[in-house]
Amino acid sequence: MSTCALASGAAETRDAIKETLERIKVPARIVPVGCMGHCYAEPLVVIDHPASGFPPICYHRIDAGIARVVIRSFFEDGDPSFEYVLGALEENDLVPPVTQFPRFNLEERVVMELCGRIDPGDIQEYIARGGYAALARALDGEPESVIDTIERSGLRGRGGAGFPTGRKWRLARSARSERKVVICNADEGDPGAYMDRTILESNPHQVLEGLAIAAYAVGADEALVYVRAEYPLAVKTVQKAVRDAEACSLLGRGVLGTAFDLKVSVFQGSGAFVCGEETALIQSVEGRRGMPRHRPPYPVEKGLWGRPTVVNNVKTLASVPPIVSKGADWFRTIGTENSPGTAIFSVVGNVKHPGLVEVPMGTSLRKLIFDVCGGIPGKKAFKAVQIGGPSGGCLPERFLDTPIDFDSLAQAGAMMGSGGMVVMDQDSCMVDVARYFVDFTQKESCGKCTFCRIGTRHLLVMLDRITKGEGREEDLEIMETLSHDIKAGSLCGLGKTAPNPVITSLRYFREEYEAHIRERR
Ligand code: SF4
Repeated sequence: MSTCALASGAAETRDAIKETLERIKVPARIVPVGCMGHCYAEPLVVIDHPASGFPPICYHRIDAGIARVVIRSFFEDGDPSFEYVLGALEENDLVPPVTQFPRFNLEERVVMELCGRIDPGDIQEYIARGGYAALARALDGEPESVIDTIERSGLRGRGGAGFPTGRKWRLARSARSERKVVICNADEGDPGAYMDRTILESNPHQVLEGLAIAAYAVGADEALVYVRAEYPLAVKTVQKAVRDAEACSLLGRGVLGTAFDLKVSVFQGSGAFVCGEETALIQSVEGRRGMPRHRPPYPVEKGLWGRPTVVNNVKTLASVPPIVSKGADWFRTIGTENSPGTAIFSVVGNVKHPGLVEVPMGTSLRKLIFDVCGGIPGKKAFKAVQIGGPSGGCLPERFLDTPIDFDSLAQAGAMMGSGGMVVMDQDSCMVDVARYFVDFTQKESCGKCTFCRIGTRHLLVMLDRITKGEGREEDLEIMETLSHDIKAGSLCGLGKTAPNPVITSLRYFREEYEAHIRERR
């Protein structure tokens, strides 16, 4: 019942299941769950009926009509209606249990482990699976020891920059102030990216638990979840989760009977892409125009209302409870030495199985695109992958064996970003792609810096000209120089990375630009 499923008709499917179960008098419980990551196959339905002799079976692309057929044949005829079973490849395959799809075997779920498996609106389901035990464990010890654990785990911020989370928390803890704040940054705005939305819609309590642990560690008594207003279901889900956690003494006054108080509020984003940048986000919460400001002072020294403020991404915070429960050493067994843990990507574009994927850091792009997401549909050839949102880079085929981690992607000219990944096949025009992303960043530039405001505009004018067959030979050189100037002369990450699609497409697909310009003659 997350946004991707509702858009595919999940509400109608649920109604049809309810009505059919009533008609055939089967007393089953219908549990609404969030997204499992198989967005290409929504609506998904799992039938868990141990007495049937089958394992929990997951059905895919179940519209209301198919739902009636599947429910009747399962419960009346004992027939699992094989053709709708997700992961069934051959007629004679065994029915795969839901946790053993080929795709799940290629993934490693830390943050998304419970996504699509529990009712996000029922706090008891989270608690029953060990939820909030990490918070209890953290409150049992000293805040310093929580920071030690996070530092030793090597967790790096999942919002894009990859800054060590433990170091950020330590800086905030050592800042002198009576009042401190922790903010969960869910202002996800990259085209094609929807990881944060899905996690909040599917398992909001894991994020809130991470937020509460962070607040305890740094000594904050106030926390904020900053969610895009364009994510109404995520906003509603988090608001309810906060109320439920307060009612169970897991947030609010005297958390779990201790002296730790934490007031949590939900703030709806101000509609600008740049508000995902932490200083702009803070300004927008303070009621000012969301524009990045010069640092220092850094938010951990002086942030919201002048108080030391930690801003962490949704995925960073959701990684915290498993680390506190299972230990820093366990976390370091996943991923690479410099990028421990998992990476979550929303893989979209020309792949057979688009959706949300969580893999260990260090997994190759090839494995992610071809093994996990099924490769390119229609027997077409892979052309490029754009990683890291609108400011990421476009990598050609020869980079497919690049490991996915903060450092390797940066070396290749792309970036982890917050986790958006757009796959392109042989028919994609890389000049069009670069134009699309520059158009996006140009519109989202807050206008504070000349190079970002006017430089991206000039880039767009030249890209427009080239795509219309009116490009000039000198345009390519000017675009290259201008791209480097924009990077050097911009204040925040938006401007510093906005030319990346142009730089990488010029580096790896220059012949396409030249072909557009030649066509003019
Ligand atoms: Fe605003 Fe762009 Fe400057 Fe960032 S780089 S502050 S978005 S003008």
